[in-house]
Amino acid sequence: MAQIISLGTSRGDHTQQVPLLDLKRQYAEICDDMDVALRSVSDSGQFVLGPEVKKLEQNLAAYCQVDHAVGCASGSDALLLSLMACDIKSGDEVIVPSFTFFATASAVTRLGATPIFADVEPKSFNIDPHHVAQLINEKTKAIIPVNLFGQMAEMKTLNDLVRGRNIAMIEDSAQAIGAELENRRTGSWGDMCALSFYPTKNLGGVGDGGMVVTNNATFADKLRLLRGHGMEPRYYHSIIGINSRLDSYQAAALNVKLPHLDKWTTMRKQNADRYNALFCDADLDEMVVYPETLPNRRHVWNQYVIRVPNGLRDAMRQELTESKIGTEIYYPLGLHEQECFRYLGYALESLPETFRATREVIALPIYPELTEQEQIFVVEKIKQFCEKQRQFTLPKAA
Ligand SMILES: *Cc1c(COP(=O)(O)O)cnc(C)c1O
Repeated sequence: MAQIISLGTSRGDHTQQVPLLDLKRQYAEICDDMDVALRSVSDSGQFVLGPEVKKLEQNLAAYCQVDHAVGCASGSDALLLSLMACDIKSGDEVIVPSFTFFATASAVTRLGATPIFADVEPKSFNIDPHHVAQLINEKTKAIIPVNLFGQMAEMKTLNDLVRGRNIAMIEDSAQAIGAELENRRTGSWGDMCALSFYPTKNLGGVGDGGMVVTNNATFADKLRLLRGHGMEPRYYHSIIGINSRLDSYQAAALNVKLPHLDKWTTMRKQNADRYNALFCDADLDEMVVYPETLPNRRHVWNQYVIRVPNGLRDAMRQELTESKIGTEIYYPLGLHEQECFRYLGYALESLPETFRATREVIALPIYPELTEQEQIFVVEKIKQFCEKQRQFTLPKAA
């Protein structure tokens, strides 16, 4: 009880702010190299594709341990181009998790195909292979497992499900560059793998960007064609593509950042471990469920997402906001609940784990440069909130 009071009185005299993400701290570390790289693009006068993009494609193919990489305008387009490379069209079904960012499903509908929403596993928040198995039928042309928050989905089991069938496997690794399952990186588990360089991702550009990596040379050639209007040679179009090229500023910035990525990933993991230890010490087990790394995985911790059951999530978030701690809800609705997908006719609670996750999750700051002191502050505020709730809800000892 003494501890509760002492925590209580510290409230208000903290002027500290803990942002959800602070990209300026990362920039401070690499600003000289970045300035040189961006300046050299300005000097070159070559702003779209070009040598910096080619170099990044080579670097990222090597990083993802695959043979080919094709840069494009965004992670969303990386998904769209991957589906286009598989000739996904009207009448086709593509299985996606409902608990993911919107782009995983909108890539499907943009081609006139139908997203089929699968539920997720409660521990990893990743697509549930058992549910996927029930959803596969003769219309299924692709599956897009999302390696959510930085952790690999059950790719091995999923690949077993499609073996011998004409179903493409496209990894959505927008949040999971460098993630591994059984020491094998994301990139080669599926036929293609979509990456995003949106600034909040583990490898973030200075604007939008994306890439598809693959071991399949036929897909790689087709992706290259598709990202440039299906044009080859110039002004001759064999297929209908789109304009989705990666620009040279992005590639130059990413070429500077990539050599730091493994160090930053290690820092993210250290922060995750520290949160886990702090939560363990705080003894909040019945009020907070902290994230787990499943066996045989390298988790790259794009997000550190806890669950707050019992309907207390929004109240906790409110308190953290008042303490100037940045948080986010990834994601407040399953895609099957979104207004734009109502026409698909899903009942709200038809995907129970997705439904529960959307009501319980809250992401805490986890970026590499976050300090120990900041993490202690975050956990202290969460503990303070939980102690207050306990006072309300737990029966007092007689
Ligand atoms: C960020 C993200 C995307 C889209 O990437 P953009 O580069 O923002 O278009 C797709 N899927 C998931 C899971 C993401 O987190």
